[in-house]
Amino acid sequence: MTPAPTPCSEELFDRARAVTPGGVNSPVRAFNAVGGTPRFIASARGPWLTDVDGNEYVDLICSWGPMLLGHAHPEVVAAVQAAVARGTSYGTPTEGEVTLVEEIIGRTPVEKVRLVSSGTEATMSAIRLARGFTGRDVVVKFAGCYHGHLDALLASAGSGLTTFSIPGTPGVPASSTALTLVLPYNDRAAVEAAFAEHGDRIACLITEAAPGNMGVVPPEPGFNAFLAETCRRHGALFVSDEVMTGFRVSRSGQWGTDGAVEGWRPDLVTFGKVMGGGLPAAAFGGRADVMAALAPDGPVYQAGTLSGNPIATAAGLATLRLATPDVYDHLAAVADTLRAGVADAFTAAGVPHVIQSTGSMFSVFLTDEPVRDFAGASRTDVAAYGAFFHAMLDRGVHLPPSAFEAWFVSAAHDDRAVQTVLDALPAAAEAAGS
Ligand code: PLP
Repeated sequence: MTPAPTPCSEELFDRARAVTPGGVNSPVRAFNAVGGTPRFIASARGPWLTDVDGNEYVDLICSWGPMLLGHAHPEVVAAVQAAVARGTSYGTPTEGEVTLVEEIIGRTPVEKVRLVSSGTEATMSAIRLARGFTGRDVVVKFAGCYHGHLDALLASAGSGLTTFSIPGTPGVPASSTALTLVLPYNDRAAVEAAFAEHGDRIACLITEAAPGNMGVVPPEPGFNAFLAETCRRHGALFVSDEVMTGFRVSRSGQWGTDGAVEGWRPDLVTFGKVMGGGLPAAAFGGRADVMAALAPDGPVYQAGTLSGNPIATAAGLATLRLATPDVYDHLAAVADTLRAGVADAFTAAGVPHVIQSTGSMFSVFLTDEPVRDFAGASRTDVAAYGAFFHAMLDRGVHLPPSAFEAWFVSAAHDDRAVQTVLDALPAAAEAAGS
């Protein structure tokens, strides 16, 4: 088939590259992993993106998670418009901040919450708070888990299992990652070994509540409970990063599917994405005694000019209020249909594949073994994914432009959008296999 022309996106990409590194303001948008020209989007409504050339795509990125209700939901738009009309930022407290935080506390295991503007700020602040509260300095994370671009967590594993890590990117000083331990995900023995050797120095262990940033790699049953208990035994804090999963994989996030059922609580939780409704809002929260260590109540400093911004809180509150149980039922049904379609298409094309999910978040690994950690995820066939991605794009479906990302659906993904995806899959799976 002949792909729809994209001259306006190409021209904009040229202009963008002349003035912005890679032409984008966040690297994955550049299509480096799949090749080609990113589509510049002019507008979006419901499950559809419209690019500057007038081409339409079913959106399975959903802004990398936030757009739980789909794009330009009328009630979210109205809430934002009403908020803008009252002024864009005051630098003084507002009722909207209180109400949003009350909504978050009502849905999740946290007792107190501080609002910030990005997921990175949330995890960075949670780690500082964990260090300040415990008086310890070591942080444990898992390979393949992404928590934003803070220096301490842009770390790669050291040479041994319990040796400290090395910077994951130029620009991060070795001293910033020298107190970070990077372990393989889902590996209880590695966690035991790290705590046995460094337990009395570990301030916190941070993990994606269910990793989505190496593709979806769910925690094995009881893994989060094991992490919470291990931290408790060693006097470290368990920080559950729900920036991606929060309010998406269930009403309360990943915790709603494991902690609430198994009866344990994280000490700190980070949130972002859905709770901002597509505007810059994020949060961290947790045990009241830990949060009491935060300024101005306690000595651990943290602040932000735009934290709790009135427009962002209005968008977030409208989104959370509209995220009723029906929404989660719909997301589950859409994800089920799409997963079945993806499996059928790759099976028919004879392409080895594994589909992994948590709630309605899922991803497709082009490999023949279930993926339980970053090493497993790295075995996915990246070139085949690139061919699949472009064949889907040519047929009006915008997947994440990387093999290591979750696919997101929204409450607005209706029969027409789902059918467009199902119709595109067989030929795209063939393209992946050729
Ligand atoms: N934590 C997780 C689990 C994420 O997925 C992300 C972003 O994708 C972040 C933190 C960082 O959030 P932000 O991009 O808003 O800084």
